[in-house]
Amino acid sequence: MKKAFEADTGRVLNIVINSLYSEKEIFLRELISNSSDALDKRRFLSLTDKKDSVGTEDLKIEIHANKKDSTLTINDNGIGMSKEELENSLGTIAKSGTTEFLAELEKNAGKDKKKNDVNLIGQFGVGFYSAFMVADKVEVVSKGVGQTKANKWESDGISGYEISNSTKEEIGTEITLHIKRSEKEYLDKERIGFITRKYSDHLMYSVNFIDGKNEPELLNKASAIWTREKKDISAEQYEEFYKQIGAGFNKPLLTLHNKVEGTLSYINLLFIPDSRPFDLFQMDVKSKIKLYSNRVLITDDSESILPRWLRFVKGIVDTSDVDLNVSREMLQHNVTLNKISKALKKRVINELKKMKDKDQEKYSSFWNEFGIVLKEGIYEDFDLKTELLELSKFQSMNEDKLVFLSDYIEKMNTEQKDIYYLAAENKEMAEGSPHLEVFKKKKLDVLFLTDPIDTFWLSMAGEFQDRKFVSITKGDIDLTAFSDDKKEKEKKPPAGMKGLVEKIKEILGESVQDVKVSTKLVDSACCLVAPDTGMDVQMERIMKIQNKDFKGMPRILEINPDHNIIKKLNKIKDTDKDALNDASLLLFDQAKMVEGELPNDIAKFNQRMSKFLGLALS
Ligand code: ADP
Ligand code: MG
Repeated sequence: MKKAFEADTGRVLNIVINSLYSEKEIFLRELISNSSDALDKRRFLSLTDKKDSVGTEDLKIEIHANKKDSTLTINDNGIGMSKEELENSLGTIAKSGTTEFLAELEKNAGKDKKKNDVNLIGQFGVGFYSAFMVADKVEVVSKGVGQTKANKWESDGISGYEISNSTKEEIGTEITLHIKRSEKEYLDKERIGFITRKYSDHLMYSVNFIDGKNEPELLNKASAIWTREKKDISAEQYEEFYKQIGAGFNKPLLTLHNKVEGTLSYINLLFIPDSRPFDLFQMDVKSKIKLYSNRVLITDDSESILPRWLRFVKGIVDTSDVDLNVSREMLQHNVTLNKISKALKKRVINELKKMKDKDQEKYSSFWNEFGIVLKEGIYEDFDLKTELLELSKFQSMNEDKLVFLSDYIEKMNTEQKDIYYLAAENKEMAEGSPHLEVFKKKKLDVLFLTDPIDTFWLSMAGEFQDRKFVSITKGDIDLTAFSDDKKEKEKKPPAGMKGLVEKIKEILGESVQDVKVSTKLVDSACCLVAPDTGMDVQMERIMKIQNKDFKGMPRILEINPDHNIIKKLNKIKDTDKDALNDASLLLFDQAKMVEGELPNDIAKFNQRMSKFLGLALS
């Protein structure tokens, strides 16, 4: 029975087949790496489960080319697939990011097309479908471990797919590509050998070429690259391996290859890619490091090796200290793994430190791609807080660029003790905040913290190098120490505002906690300040987004006694009740809006605004 592709699968296929003009050869890398994954899984099974025993040396990949029939067959004796697995793995793109994938492709249309498409295809794990770039029909015959029957999946890559009973003696998967007329080069031994060496030289398994006429020929080195000495591995070879495991598609930004021997013995070959994967911010994305025990893959999605905040690090860890039979559920509690994990976290941090000190530009590009994720660690791995804060960059108001906290502290006013920050939704919102006025005037720098994660670690971190983080939207900040103007130092809030303050307070009622005369405002008439003991304004907004019922605490309205509007209001406060009422409510709404919130009652806000406009124009 023929089945249609799911809507999104069809769309993706269409793009894959029609947009990847020049990098068609990667189809072979994708199929070989799928075979390698399947062999890894079978190897693990045969070593842990008596029912399926196969010698490691017997696990292999074969490529058959048949020029007469124009078919290319990739054959492995890996774990194989049952009927259901064929359906689930090949009938749908079982990735939650498909819609994002399409959106991203559409966004990139017209840019550096080749590079972008090739980058995307691997990220979205549509590897298998790349076969349709060179084939107009693909047949997959597979028999899973423990099964007696084989099944066949076939498709032209356009209309849909069909699954039927089939026969196959050996366990494993055989993929036959009916090569398109225009792609005959992929039947050539030289071409196939070249591509295999280019992408799959350091696969653990052998890839043999068979054409029926000549002796089978071994195409690759078939040795796990990470077990070799660093000095014997070229940058290109690292890069191929990086691509082969799907870590990224250009060059890795950082490669960490270490052999550790002693009380703990392991090898790590880890990469930091040069750009973000598409799913970096999806809720369910975890760190994925392939975990091997003496070159046998235990699992390829272990969260127990690196924490979520290092999920941008890709690669493998091989250790003989973890037993093959350890159940996956127990991995998280495995003492050895926890120790390795700790050591790896330190190693990654140290390497980043080195990069930061040696190559600012490279570090900046790392920070732009992954800084947001790294900052999650300040909150999640409290022990590493100081190290991570040292690595973090923040937007500086005065310098209009990202700076390290150490830079900020170095340039601080001699009288300044705290690190001033403004948490806001984005840089533009931060720049428009009335809270900044006095800091600008006194030339004090303020850091803009614009990532949602910032408010979380801030609530815990508290300080850096004995400097407190102080939100400039919260409580009373005494800035008189920074004034060289004697008069200003002695200036007390004008007493004549008391009556006005009381009246405004009465008008605003429960909407505010208090009304005060500001010592900080310069250009704006008023602003909202969070009470000393309350939540930071931005924190409160995030809480509101997460919980609809969350009602923040009323804030304090500060009014600027030197502002024209406030002065005028002070004059009319006893004579024009209506105007004072409307103006107070308008000012309050404006103060809210500047924080990125809506007025309490938009219709009333509009009416009042129109009334005032009418008066101003008449
Ligand atoms: P990915 O490799 O990223 O999972 P692919 O599109 O390359 O995505 O493959 C989809 C799925 O099909 C694999 O995850 C695997 O379950 C299955 N698969 C593909 N090729 C093989 C194979 N040779 N042996 C066993 N399973 C395979
Ligand atoms: Mg794949």
